[in-house]
Formats: sequence, structure tokens, C-alpha cells
Amino acid sequence: MTTTDSSGDVRLTGIGKTYGSFTAVHPLDLTVPQGSFFALLGASGCGKTTTLRMIAGLEEPTSGTVYLGDQEVTHLPPYKRPVNTVFQSYALFPHLDIFENVAFGLRRRGIKSVKKQVEEMLELVQLGEQARKKPHQLSGGQQQRVAVARALINHPKVLLLDEPLGALDLKLRRQMQLELKRIQTEVGITFIHVTHDQEEAMTMADTVAVMNAGRVEQLGAPTDLYENPQTTFVANFLGTSNLIEAEVDTKNGGDIVLKAGGDKLVLPESRCAAPTKTGGKVLVGIRPEKIALTHADDAGSIPEGRNRITGKIADASFIGVSTQYVIDTPVCDEFAVYVQNVERDGRLVPGADVVLHWSPAHTFGLDAAQDID
Ligand code: ATP
Repeated sequence: MTTTDSSGDVRLTGIGKTYGSFTAVHPLDLTVPQGSFFALLGASGCGKTTTLRMIAGLEEPTSGTVYLGDQEVTHLPPYKRPVNTVFQSYALFPHLDIFENVAFGLRRRGIKSVKKQVEEMLELVQLGEQARKKPHQLSGGQQQRVAVARALINHPKVLLLDEPLGALDLKLRRQMQLELKRIQTEVGITFIHVTHDQEEAMTMADTVAVMNAGRVEQLGAPTDLYENPQTTFVANFLGTSNLIEAEVDTKNGGDIVLKAGGDKLVLPESRCAAPTKTGGKVLVGIRPEKIALTHADDAGSIPEGRNRITGKIADASFIGVSTQYVIDTPVCDEFAVYVQNVERDGRLVPGADVVLHWSPAHTFGLDAAQDID
């Protein structure tokens, strides 16, 4: 794969879709670079499938333009676009064996000698041994790999995947996530993957677009979305967030000092997605695993410079590697804190008075004018 090749770029400009008076996708601009593994992530009904179908040519956009590489394809039928789609229902031909299912696209184009290409494709999806079986003799994960091989055999520039793992059980789903990632790295073409499963999107994709109510709410690398959410929707959709309503007190260099109840919290200005004028409200966010828990009797041992609030343990659930605590605090009910069990203090049981503390660098700030989802 060369970095200068742009034939697998997908560029949407002002692309939108309405059904009567209902807007499924508000006009959006999106660029997916050649060779990337891109995920459209969101809850049911947010418009991710409609967006994918507009790229595939299966849905006519109400507005905007679709480019694949340098070619405008907005009004081209699906079969004239250099894309192929894998659906949740594998849609394999039940009467054909695996080899013939994969060969189908080549034979339809009148290609006679298909053996080498089909065998290579079956090797890619690690089904070389299963070539003469019928689809019903394979597991769900294997059938989905046949569907991927069949979609890749015509060498599309872009592979679109619409909830392809939705029918699989959790364990198989996790295996197939890694498998699809491996296949994408090997073939080097653009994959656009639709899912409602945040863990799936984070595991597989190098860029994720989080969609909400027909809009892209935030776009970025998985770690960036997780660590620097810009909206409460993204903060809550990607994992658990503790959100504290606080008031801007002062600014100190690149830091904002906020008042939350009787406590002062420090937030780097660069990590704040909200206006920060003195007296203004900000939602201060912190992920549960970034917080340390110290028994109130040992509060003096907490290093200077950490954000801290006091609380009482309401609940503790031991879940193997970690313990998940729920803490009552004056600034936020049901504060979630996850502590690795190697660091667990036996006194941290329900009813114990504790101090929650964390590094300001892990704190993010959101606009308090938004609804908390
Ligand atoms: P899911 O994961 O449930 O498929 P999604 O995020 O992919 O959800 P879409 O299938 O893109 O959502 O649908 C977005 C919205 O558009 C939904 O509210 C849906 O009901 C609506 N919609 C989709 N297709 C049509 C149609 N043909 N006519 C009317 N409304 C539609």
C-alpha cells in the first residue's frame, strides 16, 4: 500500500437523507482516507446504515455528493462503484459450496480460470480446508468469513461492512473483530464498518465517527474519543463517565480552577470543550479507572496536586482483576471508581469514608448547557 494512492478515499460532501419530513442523516462532510479502517458508531436509528448505503449506492441521497477516489459516484448504481458490501445476514448461496460461493463474482464477469484467485482468497480468510463444504456445514463466524472473501474477490477499493458480526455470540464476535482487522491490514483497502458496539469500534477501527440523531457528533482515533470526549453523548456512549457540575473560579496558567461543592478541581484548559468564563458552569468528567481511592484515615498520604473529593462507599463489586465501587459524594451521586485488585485496600468496604483522587491531566471538561444523557 502506498500513501500516495488515493483511489480508495471516500469523500462525502454535504451528504444527507430525508424520508418525507423526517431527516435520517443531516448533511454531513466526511473523508475516509485510503487504507483506513473506519467505523460508523452509534445507537439504533442514528443514521449510520443510511450513510453506508449512500456510499454503496443502495440509497439515493437527498443532498450532497459522494466521491470514491477522484470519481464522483453519487448517482452511479452499486455495481458500477468500486465498492462491495458485507451484510449481517451472510447471504451465501446455500446450494453452492464455499469455493463456488467465493468464485461467483469472478464467474459472473466471465472469468474462466478462477482457481488460483479463489484459493488465495480462502487462504486469506483461513478457510482453505473448507472449500468443498456447503454454507450450512460452517459456523456463523466461518460463514461470515466466506461472505468477506466473496466481497473481496473482485478487488473493490472499499469494503463496506453493515453490522457484519451482529449475529454472532460474544466470544466469536471478539475473535472475528481481530480477524477482520488482520484481513484489512493484509489487503490494505479501505474498510468502513457500521456498528452499535463501542468496544467493537474501538478494537477494530483507526478512526471512529460517533453518530447521534443523524449527525456525526465526534470523529477521531478511539483513544482520543475516549480520553477527550467533546460532548456528554460521546462521554457516555464510550464507556462510563463521572460528570460533576462545577463553576469556573479562576485561571492559573494553562489550568482552570473550578469549584465543585466545597472542593476545588483543576482542569487543563486544553482539555475543556466548554466556554470557561469566570462564574460559568462546566461539567468536569473523569473516567472510573483513572481514579484512586484512599481510606479517609490515610488522606494525608495523597500527593499534592491531585484533584480530590470526599465520599462514602455505597457498594463494592469484586469482578476478578478489579473491584468496581459506587461512591456517594456531595458533588455526584453514584460516582463509579474501578480499582485494580493488586492495589486493593481491605478497609475499602461499603460504609467506609474515602477520598477519591486523580490527576488533573485525566480530567476533561464539557459544556454544562448540554443535556446529560
Ligand atoms: P440500526 O442500527 O437500527 O440499523 P441505524 O443507525 O443504522 O440503525 P438507519 O437504518 O440509518 O439507522 O436509520 C436512520 C433513521 O431513518 C431511522 O429512524 C429509520 O427508522 C429511518 N429510516 C431508514 N430507512 C427508512 C425508510 N426507507 N423510510 C423511512 N424511514 C427510514
